[in-house]
Amino acid sequence: MIQESARTGIVQKDKETVALIPEIKFGMMTPDDLEKIAAVSRKYEIPVIKITSAQRIALVGVKPEHVEAIWEELGMEPGHGLGTGLNYIKACPGEAVCRLGQRDSLGMAERIYDVVKPMGIESKIKFGVSGCPLACGEGIIRDIGIFGKKSTGWTIQIGGNSGLNARLGEVLAKDLDDDQLIDVVTKLMTYYKENMKAKERMYRFVPRMGGVEAIRQALGLE
Ligand code: SF4
Repeated sequence: MIQESARTGIVQKDKETVALIPEIKFGMMTPDDLEKIAAVSRKYEIPVIKITSAQRIALVGVKPEHVEAIWEELGMEPGHGLGTGLNYIKACPGEAVCRLGQRDSLGMAERIYDVVKPMGIESKIKFGVSGCPLACGEGIIRDIGIFGKKSTGWTIQIGGNSGLNARLGEVLAKDLDDDQLIDVVTKLMTYYKENMKAKERMYRFVPRMGGVEAIRQALGLE
């Protein structure tokens, strides 16, 4: 049964329970979402509820026999990177909420999600999207980092990573309006999908393709 649960959850160290991480896009939640999470946590006596670095909530220590019912009662999709594909878009509140916001990072995150998710790219991809250069979305250490400035528009950085292979992203393009940014993201993701090795993360892909300058030329951004 634990193997069956691994399709929608992460098997824990004890090999007897799983963690379920519902999709919560960009950390934005409704009172209904919170109430459902609280209700299943009480009903199924989930021992650990943890906010993740990807702006989601992990329900940890779920018994395999409860997994199906919990998903049904939540009415939410599994959100974490079960294998590959768009792992997450971390977005700061941006001009919708933050007093320092200069651009609509949440709106842009939604547009990027709608473009990238259906592409079904077979590698982990993490975005960080921020509404000003302070970059609370941490894009500089993500596969793709984006931040906005009121005066000049969006900047996109690529090839960043955190963890054991830490690397800072480098600027691919800047001074982009909303549609131009979506165009660059679409071209970049298409190029990545066509040229990547199996499961190759962006921080390895960028140097293998000859660096940011070579990718910029390949995308026709010069
Ligand atoms: S990056 Fe800027 S807009 Fe976004 S939360 Fe930080 S200060 Fe606010």
